[in-house]
Amino acid sequence: MHQQLADDLANIESLLEVVKLQGLDYLGQLSQRPTIAATVEQTHNLSDEGIGTLRALELFNSQFEPVIISSSGPRYLGFVTGGSTPAAIAGDWLASIYDQNTQATNGQGDNSAIIEKATINLLLELFGLPKTFLGGFVTGATMSNFTCLATARQWAGKCQGRNISQSGISQNLHVLSANAHSSILKSMSMLGIGSANILKVGTEEGNRESIDLMDLENKVKLLKEQPFILVSSAGTVNTVDFDNFKAIAALKSKYSFWWHIDAAFGAFATCSPYYRHLLDGWENADSITIDCHKWLNVPYENAVFFIKTYHQDLQVETFQNSNAPYLGSLTDQFSYLNFLPENSRRLKALPVWFSLMAYGKKGFRAIVENSVDMARRLGEFIFLSEQFALLAPVRLNNVCFTLKNDKNQELVSVFLEQLNGTGKVFMTPTFYNGKKGIRASFVNWRTSVHDLEIITTTMISIARSINN
Ligand SMILES: *Cc1c(COP(=O)(O)O)cnc(C)c1O
Repeated sequence: MHQQLADDLANIESLLEVVKLQGLDYLGQLSQRPTIAATVEQTHNLSDEGIGTLRALELFNSQFEPVIISSSGPRYLGFVTGGSTPAAIAGDWLASIYDQNTQATNGQGDNSAIIEKATINLLLELFGLPKTFLGGFVTGATMSNFTCLATARQWAGKCQGRNISQSGISQNLHVLSANAHSSILKSMSMLGIGSANILKVGTEEGNRESIDLMDLENKVKLLKEQPFILVSSAGTVNTVDFDNFKAIAALKSKYSFWWHIDAAFGAFATCSPYYRHLLDGWENADSITIDCHKWLNVPYENAVFFIKTYHQDLQVETFQNSNAPYLGSLTDQFSYLNFLPENSRRLKALPVWFSLMAYGKKGFRAIVENSVDMARRLGEFIFLSEQFALLAPVRLNNVCFTLKNDKNQELVSVFLEQLNGTGKVFMTPTFYNGKKGIRASFVNWRTSVHDLEIITTTMISIARSINN
């Protein structure tokens, strides 16, 4: 064995202890640590002998540790960024240590797919979804959207008597949506559907981002019974609007289409009795995308897809790993190899399993309701302020706003740059209803009223300094 490997192995206990202490130090400082950092350049070349883990840690600490930002902290409101609960960290550490390769449940190789399927069932319970969905873990909502659309594409081909996974796309395939997330278009590109083949449906009146059902039905009629995929939103990223799932479910009995719901973070509305109604009817979808590294607060990279079990033949046709025909039933021959894009995968289910076991339904209800409370408070502050204006009502956990004096649109970017430059809070830019805007998304389990005070105080002082 190479000397550095042998030394590290002999010292593994003290090595992990050092890492543990560094991790605890980081977590203890999370709230004070900046939400932004300068970039650095890598200056070291690959050595012949290596320097061992302890010295690599020292090198890392002098070079890269200072640029690690508190993106898992309470005031990082950019994109839709969750943190990591203690249980999630425990599960994630063990997933690294166990280093299983999640594939099968049939005793051939490791059995971590058993844990994955058990965790999927817990998630179905959390979201109140029926067991008629088969779920699996992928790296993020992008790959979950990809997996669902890939199976949908296979379905559309079958409707036209074609096997697209074998013969490729040779005719236009229509995708309809009002406000599809960018990852849907990316998935369409990757799948050969072509991102330009999205048919944009109008949105409901009254500052909404949800799909206009009349316009949808008109567009559907124009397709003259060609198969199509409907991508609907459970939580748009600007204003967290939800499509009307009961009405879409009713359309399913009139027309034949694949119904996909991108519920990357909106799915978690089901955790609270106050917001559960937003998802009424979603169980009728063919496929659903949900991110765990957002509102479930587990480390990146973690998301699930849910696809109806009656579509499993299509799913296997799409993801089958070999030319050998798919054999046997789900229960005794099941292998994730044939159901999703990756072959080898880490045990992503473990941090989720630990989180669900540790905090239960009420724990996630509390996280969701706290996030919504924080968003509403920020919304109220903006509504009452002289410097800021809401671009849309606060529907759930995101606040979409701009400067009240919006004649000079450039000031919005200046304000955001200076706000993020303080390192006390991080928000991301957007463009909404023809105006430059800013989004603050609340999903981190730690965010408190105290953080909101820091955020609003900083917002006011920056707005004053740019003379708004
Ligand atoms: C975040 C998000 C995605 C993409 O998710 P990744 O985890 O970044 O791949 C897709 N759809 C919606 C609605 C999202 O919020």
